[in-house]
Amino acid sequence: MPAEHPSVHEAPILHIDLDAFFASVEVLDDPSLKGKPVAVGGAGARSVIASASYEARRYGVKSAMPSLMAQRICPQLIILPGRFDRYEYYSQKFHEIVNDLTPDYEPLGLDEVFCDLRSLALITPDPVASAWELKRRINDELGLLSGVGLGRNKLWAKLASKRSKPRVVNGKLVDGPGVVLVDRAMEAKWLEELPIRALWGVGPATAAKLENLGIRFVRELSRVGEETLAAHVGSAMARSLADYARGDDERPVEANRELKSVGHDQTFATSIPSLNELFEVAKFHSAIVARAIRSKDLVARTVSMTLRFDDQTGLSRSQTLPFGIDDETAIAAIVSALMESVPLKQSVRLVGVHLSNFLERGKNAVQLSFDIDADSIEGKAKVAQLSQERQVSMEALRDAVDEVREKFGNSSVGTLSELGEEGIEIERQRGSHAFGPKDRRAE
Ligand SMILES: [Mg+2]
Repeated sequence: MPAEHPSVHEAPILHIDLDAFFASVEVLDDPSLKGKPVAVGGAGARSVIASASYEARRYGVKSAMPSLMAQRICPQLIILPGRFDRYEYYSQKFHEIVNDLTPDYEPLGLDEVFCDLRSLALITPDPVASAWELKRRINDELGLLSGVGLGRNKLWAKLASKRSKPRVVNGKLVDGPGVVLVDRAMEAKWLEELPIRALWGVGPATAAKLENLGIRFVRELSRVGEETLAAHVGSAMARSLADYARGDDERPVEANRELKSVGHDQTFATSIPSLNELFEVAKFHSAIVARAIRSKDLVARTVSMTLRFDDQTGLSRSQTLPFGIDDETAIAAIVSALMESVPLKQSVRLVGVHLSNFLERGKNAVQLSFDIDADSIEGKAKVAQLSQERQVSMEALRDAVDEVREKFGNSSVGTLSELGEEGIEIERQRGSHAFGPKDRRAE
């Protein structure tokens, strides 16, 4: 095969990284921010920047930089608090698009994914074409930019995606190539020039220890034996470094890692004032998450529902069933019961439905199948076709709904201040750990 058409076997590993992810989502949700220096992060004294738009990077603003320093070097910087529900939403959409390319993918955080393209060899033998198609879909469907790296292993794919990105040179933004494939000739060149810090997994502490050994570049690693390395950085790191020095990396793409939770969140432009409208949203969300787990042959025992109100307080409630369900009507019935248990004193800005506690469908104790003409879940429910394999249990679902009502009571129970506390707890878990104390919207 000619060199200009590398095959999937030469570069089977793809790494894709979304550009300035959190900041880009903020700009998508508020187009008036477009073209402005925007960062997501804390605004408090000890806070740091989590993500910076390329406009902000032109001034030298970077992630992990203290927010105060970022504001000093870029006084017009707009620092926004994180909205993790929105990042999770986009991340899920991103993963769905990647999954259309190949199910052999491994997410790394919210905005990076490794893919193993080997199973595609017969269908789409050109990895570069696959990479551009993936980028195009993410841009067209999500409005997000990304960089893709291709190589013979994870090490090279990740180094390559970094090279594919736009760069700031003398305060000017320079486009990157978008897709970079590392062949053997490039490997040799990069091994000559790469600083040790460029290696994935080599943080400041390891780099400092290596520097004490006189090692600042990857090419210098071979000067020192693996045993000496091990004495300084530990045997696992020493082994990895010895591999990296040759451009080798044995780590496989770990696809289909055990799924912990599947969810769908939605923030509404106009908040929802009534329970009936919330029930409609519950149906829609339940259909999305049901479809997601059915495609993986899973059933979920735990159904969770999150509401966020106009004043930014919120709460989550969940119900665990003695059996797993995968049917949207069943899920919606539980979600609706959970919603009913909440006193609606304010309009709702965000609804989330999450499933967890999965079982493989074949191992489920009771197989449920519902075919309910459900304007009202209870009233118009009817049991459809019974079959030997799929034992139908409307009773079990009714029990579960009743249990929700018993557990949480009806909506007159509970006060708003309780909900407020829970809402603050959610914010704390999601925001300030990442960025430092007091995430406040900057002026
Ligand atoms: Mg990124």
